[in-house]
Amino acid sequence: MSFLKIPFWIQIFASLLLGLLFGILLNPETGFISSIALKPYLSWMKLPGDIFLNLLQMIMIPLVIVSIALGVSSLKNLKDLWSLGSKTLLYFIFTTIVSVSIGISLALVIKPGNQIQTQSVVTNTTIAKTDLKQNEESVPEIIANIIPKNLVNVWSKQQMLSVVFFGMILGIFFLTSRESGAALKAFCHSLESFCLWVVATAMKLAPLAVLGLMSYAMVQIGFSLLFGLVSYIGTVIFGLFCILIFYLSLIFTLTRKNPFRFLNQVREIPLLGFSTSSSSSVLPYSLKLAKEKLKLKETVADFVLPLGATINMDGTALYQAVATVFLSQVYQVNLSTIDLFLLVGTVTAASIGTAATPGVGLVILTSILFTFHIPIEGITILFGVDRFLDMCRTSVNLTGDLSCAFIMDHIWKETKTNEKN
Ligand code: ASP
Repeated sequence: MSFLKIPFWIQIFASLLLGLLFGILLNPETGFISSIALKPYLSWMKLPGDIFLNLLQMIMIPLVIVSIALGVSSLKNLKDLWSLGSKTLLYFIFTTIVSVSIGISLALVIKPGNQIQTQSVVTNTTIAKTDLKQNEESVPEIIANIIPKNLVNVWSKQQMLSVVFFGMILGIFFLTSRESGAALKAFCHSLESFCLWVVATAMKLAPLAVLGLMSYAMVQIGFSLLFGLVSYIGTVIFGLFCILIFYLSLIFTLTRKNPFRFLNQVREIPLLGFSTSSSSSVLPYSLKLAKEKLKLKETVADFVLPLGATINMDGTALYQAVATVFLSQVYQVNLSTIDLFLLVGTVTAASIGTAATPGVGLVILTSILFTFHIPIEGITILFGVDRFLDMCRTSVNLTGDLSCAFIMDHIWKETKTNEKN
């Protein structure tokens, strides 16, 4: 079929634009169709997207476990694991701190919140009260709970930190007990092939899924709200753009490779992130692309990408920083310099705990607002435009993980060459 010869990223991009157009035309605020008339068709509209996302999520947990386990096991020894692990973690923390700092600085300079009167705040109560209930665990409890007591629970609740932990333990077992782990390792290889086959099959549905998901998202967005919060949205988008430039300069400085070539090679990933708002759903495809197209070493891709999708969310961190300063301006809560430093630490930690699924960044934001005595009701102002910003920040989250894998691959290959000489 000639349609299939069109490059994949163009298919995705065209579907995205078409979805945008359909969604805008069908949005009740445009006036062509009422929300009552539209309602019965909404679930049909997102059916291809739901099938696509469910297929990817169906294999996401086993794929993360086997990728990390096989990634760790392909290292030579525990020293190598420490070397790759520590560099990756340092990189994640560094880029998150830079992202939060960009967010805070932009929000302080642009002052998007000064243009909003608290009295005219839009009240939208559709956020379920339970969503806002924060995790009331203490830090030691959170640390202990990373070790999964019950694997079935971990799977059903998609507790990604525990999944990553389990993959690591399995990988360390393979690494240290080569003979007794051989059969289990062969099973993991086979399971990985199955998961990647499901990814390749699901990707055939991607253009249709993107069309449906984009139309659905655009039908839901309130345009009047979007225009009212234009300064806030502009600050977040400009910040996300700065992070992208930051990634490209890191790639150039640390690898001396052409960063635009990298961007060109990974272009479908941010597009998929934009349409799905879910880094965890796109992760299986990122893994495939990193190995097949970017030609990254399997060890590095398998280790860095699942870990990144779980704990590295620069786009979300920037968004949470801008949103906090924005709401402090709306409610005239004074944030001192010490508060701003504390905000960097809090948002960095919070973005690690943010699950890579749609809308979670907003829910976690409530705990940050609470810490800084900013009225939590403030998120009702942000709620109406959150879906759109979620799409943008997810694209950056995914690009951040791939940039890290790209850089770590370069550093890893250099270290290994130096060791040989
Ligand atoms: N949707 C984002 C992601 O999947 C998380 C968030 O910021 O809500 O990366």
